[in-house]
Amino acid sequence: MSGGKLIVFSAPSGSGKTTIVQHLLAQPELKLDFSISATSREARPGETEGKDYYFLNLEQFKKKIKNDEFLEWEEVYRDNFYGTLKSEIERIWASGKNVIFDIDVVGGLDIKHIYPDQTLAVFVKPPSIEELKIRLKKRKTESDDKINMRVAKASIELATAPQFDYIIENNDLKQALKEAHELVSTFVEAEKKTE
Ligand code: 5GP
Repeated sequence: MSGGKLIVFSAPSGSGKTTIVQHLLAQPELKLDFSISATSREARPGETEGKDYYFLNLEQFKKKIKNDEFLEWEEVYRDNFYGTLKSEIERIWASGKNVIFDIDVVGGLDIKHIYPDQTLAVFVKPPSIEELKIRLKKRKTESDDKINMRVAKASIELATAPQFDYIIENNDLKQALKEAHELVSTFVEAEKKTE
């Protein structure tokens, strides 16, 4: 595979990375398209098949692993598999756009290692673990058990931040959005000059 650029936003669940990614997707000059991941988790209310995720059952997901259809995949939480389909990147590059990812830290770093020069890997850091817990509770999409699981994972994920190209501290959303826009804009512009 070759083609455009890859922009990875990784962060602990509840850090605000989805909001940042959605904001960037709404900027037409960045020419971004969202990499729709496959997952074996249940769809949440309001999520749409083929827009938020490709929802697969465990068996379908494992079959795609066996067929080598994933660029990267991971069991992010027990029995909850997530992965980037190779076909997804090909689809977006074929349309002349750059790919933006909202994926977990391990998957994000995998992509950076597979495509070191084409990838901008950004880590979004929440103000604190406490604040993260508050945000996840407010979101009301997970049970207390699942929230605790996500918070425990967040501490491990925070330790990987230095391996990313940039760290955005999401203390103030407006500022974080501005910073993200500038970063991505510079990265995409650099591509144009070498075309
Ligand atoms: P959620 O269940 O909240 O949608 O996502 C849980 C975690 O899985 C988030 O950190 C999300 O970024 C991550 N994730 C989503 N898609 C992928 C993917 O394709 N690969 C990997 N490695 N992680 C993903």
